[in-house]
Amino acid sequence: MPYHEFECSKCIPERKKHAVTKGPGEDLTHALPLGYLNTIPGSISERGCAYCGAKHVIGTPMKDVIHISHGPTGCTYDTWQTKRYISDNDNFQLKRTFATDVKEKHIVFGAEKVLKQNIIEAFKAFPDIKRMTIYQTCATALIGDDIDAIADEVMEEMPDVDIFVCNSPGFAGPSQSGGHHKINIAWINKKVGNVEPKITSDYVINYVGEYNIQGDQEIMLDFFRRMGIQVLSTFTGNGSYDELRAMHRAHLNVLECARSAEYICNELRTRYGIPRLDIDGFGFEPLSSSLLKVGRFFGIEDRAQKIIDEETARWKPELEWYRERLLGKKVCLWPGGSKLWHWAHVIHDEMGLDVVSVYTKFGHQGDMEKGIARCEVGALAIDDPNELEGLEAMYKLKPDIIFTGKRPGEVAKKIRVPYLNAHAYHNGPYKGYEGWVRFARDIYNAIYSPIHQLSFLDITRDGIPDEGGFKTQRMLSDTSLSEEVRKSNYMREYTGTLDIITPLREKSYPEFNKKP
Ligand code: SF4
Repeated sequence: MPYHEFECSKCIPERKKHAVTKGPGEDLTHALPLGYLNTIPGSISERGCAYCGAKHVIGTPMKDVIHISHGPTGCTYDTWQTKRYISDNDNFQLKRTFATDVKEKHIVFGAEKVLKQNIIEAFKAFPDIKRMTIYQTCATALIGDDIDAIADEVMEEMPDVDIFVCNSPGFAGPSQSGGHHKINIAWINKKVGNVEPKITSDYVINYVGEYNIQGDQEIMLDFFRRMGIQVLSTFTGNGSYDELRAMHRAHLNVLECARSAEYICNELRTRYGIPRLDIDGFGFEPLSSSLLKVGRFFGIEDRAQKIIDEETARWKPELEWYRERLLGKKVCLWPGGSKLWHWAHVIHDEMGLDVVSVYTKFGHQGDMEKGIARCEVGALAIDDPNELEGLEAMYKLKPDIIFTGKRPGEVAKKIRVPYLNAHAYHNGPYKGYEGWVRFARDIYNAIYSPIHQLSFLDITRDGIPDEGGFKTQRMLSDTSLSEEVRKSNYMREYTGTLDIITPLREKSYPEFNKKP
């Protein structure tokens, strides 16, 4: 049987069906790990709740909005914009976070009054911001606060403001994925169709399921604009509230993260007849074929091809430099959801890494199926792991690096396994051709940092041996390379600059004539 039983979880037998090893020639479609189920009591999961999925993942990247959590401060603290989804309005939504700070007395007597006070106070404190989202939490849902009624009351009293209410308390699903669904559907039900946009191109898209982590959205926007495509809205990274109310006027929904945002695409197709095209901005090949797909849809494939040729010529030699040094390194690919299948094959094909494990905290079985199909034989696939299982997997698999969130990442560091932040990145953006090279550089820096070797020294003793000398990153990475590779005139290290996003915000684009 391909199911994998963790030693540490033998006392929780239900966990056994949540982990599978990919054996040679095995068809895992009949033995996928269970997924998207309530966490088993006794297993301390690392998942976020449905409120977190709605607010932290999808709602808060919207930039021109006051985001209020109606509940105890703890809920807000847990979702405090730590994901580095930057925005081009001075990161308003990243810098300021709001909560109604519900306490015991509000649970007893109700918290609607305090919510209304908070809404008015927040709008007064930021008079330039006229849009707001309010998120329900467990406590205020359980006492039955009617947030929609309060929002309507305020909108009547303050006609220049608009408020969106998301009813997705923590218990509204087994994981944050439940919240993704709730906010997708709430947005299309309550807000889409309320604003009419100005159409400036023959080719108009919504860019969906993209959260502008360290500038990913802005990198992709640059490609679309170079192709003469108007991006009506981005759901939701660097996205504007009013632009997102006009999603119904796009010709095409270009979908990046299907796990978090396919629901709104499917509804836009059903209600407004807008087709959906799934793309992938990570990796040279997936990105190139994605740009070609979008180009083909509009009959402007040549514009996509021009970008692909230019970008590949510019950045391929740098990717190759890192590939030579990363070949055969073992990676545990442990992101939250869809990156396990967005990245599994392409980090192998384009960077030479071997994926020895995939896991997901909130993915569904479909995500696992795609992820497992794309990783190496022998890989261990785990659904909703607990911390002890993660540790046991690392001891067994001995990865050279793991890609994960910061909580499991810090655990990995304690056993001297380097980690890269797969959620918020280290030195992103990672999308785009240059971004992919930046990702390779971060992996290289993490794996070959001499700190991992130094950390094995026992500094509690006198007389630390120093005869080996200090090894540099380059010494560690280049010892097994051939002379030809080391002296190559073609390959080179990353030559970009620290900030590649700010210049894009000032860039001008070619004018393409609109059809009469
Ligand atoms: S589970 Fe409930 S109480 Fe906990 S953070 Fe989520 S919304 Fe708040």
